[in-house]
Amino acid sequence: MDEQNKPQAAAQPSAPVPESRPPYIAGGRPDNRQPRRDRGPFRGPGRGGQRSGGPGASSHGGSRMGGGMGGSRNSMKRMMRMKRPRRFSGGPGTRPSTPASNENRIPSDVIPPIGPDCVRIIPLGGVEEIGKNMTAIEYGKDIIVIDAGFQFKDEATPGIDYILPNTKYLEERQGQIRAMFITHGHLDHIGGIPYIIDRIGYPTIYTRQFGAIMISKRQEEFPHLKPLDIKVITGNETITCGSLKVKTFPISHTIPDSMGLIVSTPLGDIVFIEDVRVDNIKGVPTEEEEKQYEQFAGKEYLLLTMDSTSIEKPGFSLSESVVIDNIEKFIKATSGRLIIGTFASQVERILAVIRAADKYGKKVVVEGRSMKTNIEIIKHLKLLDVKNIITAEEIDNYPPDRIVMLVTGAQGEEFAALMRMATKQHKHVQLKKTDTVLLSSSIIPTNYNAVVKLKDNLYRTEAKVITYLDSDIHASGHGNRDELKWIHEHIKYRFFMPVHGQHYMLRQHAELSQSIGTPKENIIVPDNGSVVEIYDGGKSIRVLKEKAPSNLVLVDGFAVGDVQEVVIRDRQMLAQDGMFIVFAILDAQTGRLRKSPDIISRGFVYLRESQDLLRDTRNIIKDTIEDSARGMNPLNVEMIKANVTDTVSRHLFQETAKRPVVIPVLLTI
Ligand SMILES: [Zn+2]
Ligand SMILES: [Zn+2]
Repeated sequence: MDEQNKPQAAAQPSAPVPESRPPYIAGGRPDNRQPRRDRGPFRGPGRGGQRSGGPGASSHGGSRMGGGMGGSRNSMKRMMRMKRPRRFSGGPGTRPSTPASNENRIPSDVIPPIGPDCVRIIPLGGVEEIGKNMTAIEYGKDIIVIDAGFQFKDEATPGIDYILPNTKYLEERQGQIRAMFITHGHLDHIGGIPYIIDRIGYPTIYTRQFGAIMISKRQEEFPHLKPLDIKVITGNETITCGSLKVKTFPISHTIPDSMGLIVSTPLGDIVFIEDVRVDNIKGVPTEEEEKQYEQFAGKEYLLLTMDSTSIEKPGFSLSESVVIDNIEKFIKATSGRLIIGTFASQVERILAVIRAADKYGKKVVVEGRSMKTNIEIIKHLKLLDVKNIITAEEIDNYPPDRIVMLVTGAQGEEFAALMRMATKQHKHVQLKKTDTVLLSSSIIPTNYNAVVKLKDNLYRTEAKVITYLDSDIHASGHGNRDELKWIHEHIKYRFFMPVHGQHYMLRQHAELSQSIGTPKENIIVPDNGSVVEIYDGGKSIRVLKEKAPSNLVLVDGFAVGDVQEVVIRDRQMLAQDGMFIVFAILDAQTGRLRKSPDIISRGFVYLRESQDLLRDTRNIIKDTIEDSARGMNPLNVEMIKANVTDTVSRHLFQETAKRPVVIPVLLTI
């Protein structure tokens, strides 16, 4: 059964291996509609030749082939080795001959050109998810782009590294892009830059200092790209982008130098706010916040956009200063080692921990790649003037009560520092009874199971574990409902468009806006790709029925593309019901089988104990092939294969209630 190498012969012309075309899958498409010429696997240098289309490779181009690509493919390092991501949907000349796979997609060419007295706002990502934030604002011949984030994979995209916003609308209007603005340095706002920047023609990137460093630092991992043109915004300067003018203002979040935008258009000013919270003491905004939002008083803005992430949470969020006070108490009082697990993105909290540790004469060990990177940036920017950071190797030089550790992995990430410490996989640190672990983060819902596992492992070490449920040691960077409301009340606007969240969050945010008096028709809840237009001298707003392309763009190993839904579907099927390969040799003249067909399966049923099923299936294959081939001259192998796929899939489903991916390999000699 394990004849994995056998179908080497598949390299013969008659034997390319199409993916099965299971009759059961709604929307299943014949393979020949998949554009091929553009879809070979991308290989890093030194990786050897691509494996010829053996049965492991599917005919839709095998976005990933070859044996050595499993394992750590998430790693950015690998991206470093690639020359340039292959584009599946790039600019002119790189587009596949057949339009991408989504039948319902309306090509962006049909979007009517922008009218003379019209502002377009197009959320290209981030309004149907938390992640991959990106928005375009357009007037006349000028476009500015705000943010370029990415999103991590989820259960719906097995094997994928990242999901990017679809930038096709911008690619087609590359010459009109005047600038890109980055609101802050979190990955859901900057993560997409290395993958999309060359597609949109390397516009100048404007951001504040911390974001600028985060972007540059990341870009070092993509040496094949041209250097970025980053301009650091330091204060109140106005940036002219053709007919649009942009000013920025600081806002509260969890990372230094977060900003909002005021985009002046000929129809009025847009206040564009992404991630935001309102610093407060027990629900009363601080003086700095009051001052910051004073600038909006006495003016009506054309449009407001705002973060919707925490709209469901009532009241004001816990003040970060309370969180920091509480963590400081732990730092002061803990007599053994204190291990603090938090998000590397919580830069302000990290700074506070290091300062507090210094105050009580303790050393800080930083573990986890993203955490270390951020510490480097903090040092580079001289945001910290203490010298109490030591390496993990130096731990034993100090008594346990002098040690504070800042580690990644509070979300249960498998390979992050905290999990390795808990499972004795960490080189220098193993948790023990006398340790105290603070999980200074809430649980992101999709990480729930991973955190459960982490907690099990932590408790097995006998260390003392404290979470945000036990003590106020975490606050979110996204304002709760009343914080958002407070901002609404400080900015008078005509139109409102919630952003940054799942659809239901946006809807709740729209309700909030309505509850404070915005007419329903003045609120737009967009989808990714919605073309929102303000027109009629700024008096009306609408969403065009045409949409900018918004199908998923995936980073999958070395490939970047938007036509891989079929690959994802295969992975889901393979994971669920496995694969079933039929290998048969036909006589080219008579169409008869030269010998009984071979069958290879993986993850389907244990064939050795399914002899009846095997025998019946062999008979069905034989009958199908010979019935189909009868009278055919020359043989239409593709048609025979399709018939084999259909009958075998149907039979296996009848017998096992499973739908493995069926791959027929037919050779004629
Ligand atoms: Zn953020
Ligand atoms: Zn964000």
